[in-house]
Amino acid sequence: MSLVAKIMGNGTNQGKNPKATKSESNSATAIADGALDTLSNVLQVMGKESFPLENDIDPGVFPEMCSEFAAHVENGAGVPSFDIPASADGSREWARVRRFFADRRKAENEFVTERLHDYRGVVEDLVSGLRNIGERDHDTEISVKRSLNTIEDAVGTGVLPEIRKALTQTIRTVTDTFDEQRKAYERELDELNNRMSSLRQDLVAAREEMKRDALTDAYNRGAFDSAISQSLNMHFILNQPVTVMMIDIDKFKDINDTFGHAAGDEVLRGIGEALARSFIRKSDLVARFGGDEFAVILNDTTAANCVGLLERFLKSVTEICIPYASEDTRVSCSVGYTEIHSNDTVKSLMHRADTALYQAKKNGRNQAAFLSFEDLKED
Ligand code: GH3
Ligand code: MG
Repeated sequence: MSLVAKIMGNGTNQGKNPKATKSESNSATAIADGALDTLSNVLQVMGKESFPLENDIDPGVFPEMCSEFAAHVENGAGVPSFDIPASADGSREWARVRRFFADRRKAENEFVTERLHDYRGVVEDLVSGLRNIGERDHDTEISVKRSLNTIEDAVGTGVLPEIRKALTQTIRTVTDTFDEQRKAYERELDELNNRMSSLRQDLVAAREEMKRDALTDAYNRGAFDSAISQSLNMHFILNQPVTVMMIDIDKFKDINDTFGHAAGDEVLRGIGEALARSFIRKSDLVARFGGDEFAVILNDTTAANCVGLLERFLKSVTEICIPYASEDTRVSCSVGYTEIHSNDTVKSLMHRADTALYQAKKNGRNQAAFLSFEDLKED
């Protein structure tokens, strides 16, 4: 049996050319040997240059199978991975070789098609996401859309370098466009800030027209209520710190009871003056909250900025003279203070300032206590 007949395994070519000469037979043998070498080599390369598929448990397995089939094609060696024993008569399991090759190509084809589909999906998501952003601003939209069309055209060609080039260009265009947009927003913000500061001046002027408490000349409760809402609103817009204080005279009832109501009134006036002297900025607001309680709003001021001011205020209170009282009878105040937080309402803010005041009283009076938004949340 000729080599060609042998490798055809089932005798496919047997008897096809019974009159073949010896030299023809030699050349057929040479061709068959060359074909086997080539096919074996193709299988080796297929294994070496393969890329792992999702279903490949071990990336080394497929190249190993290729080597086994390559050896089988070359010299009829066994293929352990597919339970093919070594050939005794030099025949080959061509059907198995074909199936092995076809199955792999099919799996690779499915893998690549699926990936390409996923990849297109990602690009399309990116395109539609950018389209949505683009719709927010007309100028941006025109520029971004133009770039997106370039990507879409590139995706249509399916040529990866083209797509990559289009993406790079688009990223540059989109970055530039958004940079422009950011600058425009910054200009708008500056404008808004200017408008805000003139609004703040208007507020200061409007405050001058607010009602004052007849006894102490501090702003009254109504004035305080509208001022605190304005401060909250301003804080939400400008995010500037605002400190709010509640001040209550210590044992004021005793003063009234001991030295009379008129003496008490005098002390209330003295506290109003001490507050006005301690918090003197135009944007500060001192109000009589009710009874022997005062409230102060310090716009654009952190609680930390207030520590020294409060110490001086508490000291100045002790210097208030109580009519008819002896020299050593001293007035004192307790203070609770806090800073506005962006999640505050007027209610939460005043509750916190009140709680801080209660703590100052509890700690022994004649002192200030501070509570932050987080402090009260933990309680
Ligand atoms: P604490 O240290 O706990 O604040 O004690 P306190 O005595 O100051 O507290 P309390 O709230 O019992 O007393 C407040 C007093 O202030 C009771 C009230 O008669 C008095 N008061 C309220 N308004 C006026 C006012 O316009 N003039 C005078 N003289 N007294 C007033
Ligand atoms: Mg009191």
